[in-house]
Amino acid sequence: MTDTRHTKVLVLGGGVGGYVAALRAAQLGLDTVLVEGGRLGGTCLIRGCIPSKALIHAADRFADAANGAGLGIGGGAPTLDLAKTIAWKDGIVDQLNSGVAGLLARAKVTVVAGWANFSDAKTCTVDTAGGPVTLTADHVILAAGSEAVPLPALPFGGKVISSTEALNISSLPRHLAVIGAGYIGLELGIAFRKLGAEVTIVETAERILPRYDMQLTRPVRRWLDRHKVTLHLAARVTGIDGEERLTVRTAKDEQLTIAADKILVTAGRRPRTDGWGLAAMGLDMAGPFVKIDDQCRTAMKNVWAIGDLVGEPMLAHKASAQGAMVAEIIAGHRRHFDPASVAAICFTEPEIVSAGLSPDEATAAGEEVVTGMFPFSASGRALTLEAADDGGFVRIVARKSDQRVLGVQAVGRGVAELAGEFAHALAMGAVLDDIAGTIHVHPTLGEAVGEAALLALGRGLHV
Ligand code: FAD
Repeated sequence: MTDTRHTKVLVLGGGVGGYVAALRAAQLGLDTVLVEGGRLGGTCLIRGCIPSKALIHAADRFADAANGAGLGIGGGAPTLDLAKTIAWKDGIVDQLNSGVAGLLARAKVTVVAGWANFSDAKTCTVDTAGGPVTLTADHVILAAGSEAVPLPALPFGGKVISSTEALNISSLPRHLAVIGAGYIGLELGIAFRKLGAEVTIVETAERILPRYDMQLTRPVRRWLDRHKVTLHLAARVTGIDGEERLTVRTAKDEQLTIAADKILVTAGRRPRTDGWGLAAMGLDMAGPFVKIDDQCRTAMKNVWAIGDLVGEPMLAHKASAQGAMVAEIIAGHRRHFDPASVAAICFTEPEIVSAGLSPDEATAAGEEVVTGMFPFSASGRALTLEAADDGGFVRIVARKSDQRVLGVQAVGRGVAELAGEFAHALAMGAVLDDIAGTIHVHPTLGEAVGEAALLALGRGLHV
């Protein structure tokens, strides 16, 4: 017999969107049930943000150990025990997974383990180890996330892998082909190059990281060239030949074969909308995504949707922010979602951070802007971090009339940690003088943010 239970809030998916929504709802005193078919933490904690950053860190340590000669550091070439690296990464993932379980238990969220299937907007049946459980709810928060998109010419399997398999790889590929030069492909491609693999990248666009402007991507492109990563831009994968080689149609319309021992497909991610009864819920769609308003309401009363399921940017912190917001709205708070301060980072070499509008985007939006750009070659801290000579900088974009900050971007080694200051400036509605007038600690990369604001004000000190 099916076990049946009613709850105030039912959350589908225990990724960073869903588990934060459940935690916040329970904190606010709402009876909350969370359903998760895989592992708590979802894409980000289990097979995305965290494991990829762990691998990137290990690759940095390996590359740094091999390249210390200029600083007088020797000691021979480092060796790599990849099984140990992956085990270390898995330890971090396990720690975070059980941390989330602990947080949910402490907040008194009921976690139901199993795959849910909705029969109508407020009813689902979960296939649990102990048999089917039917759940009904006053409010449903959908946070089913996303999955990697396979290429029709290159289905996953055998040597064709997604980021999930790349993060659990048992031996270092001698030659890795990466399909897609977006942030996931480049982050992983660069990490594997640092670990010693030969890397070839195939991208249909004419340049790497097509969502970012050229000024920001140029230092990354330079790193790829310097480190002999082969790039095929404006090129199209056509399949695999009889000898298991990747076949590519190049920009010059030539046919190319690439003998790679692993082919990592990072051609995009799509919302997970199939296989759990979405069609039975009567929601409106916006293209492939579930359609929502600025409070994450769907077309069905008291059914909410958040995170990767609802559209770009498909980022963890956006999912969590939407999750917490929805819980608060259900509890009676007045909230709406403002995406202005959702920054994005590429953990490439060097790193890129982008918050708000670039100069071109601001101009296209009808703004007359002033910009300030401070190069890390003029930063003492960047010099001490060997981060001064890769062409990195901080750039600030402000409205000319009232000096309101519209965007802040940076590229350079270690700039990911500046993202908080950029997001804060946008969230607070800062003007240039707020940033220029903040006393930034010396010596830090953050000083470049204050200097960029001074430059935009025409009062630059150090360039
Ligand atoms: P998810 O994290 O995908 O969670 C959805 C959950 O729902 C899953 O656990 C799934 O098992 C569960 N689920 C789905 N359907 C059902 C069902 N029917 N029944 C029960 N459970 C179900 N973002 C960043 O911000 N920074 C990064 O550095 C970053 N790096 C990334 C690196 C990689 C390699 C990848 C793949 C992604 C990365 N992302 C990064 C993106 C980030 O992981 C996602 O934006 C984020 O996980 C979205 O959260 P979510 O809660 O919407 O969905």
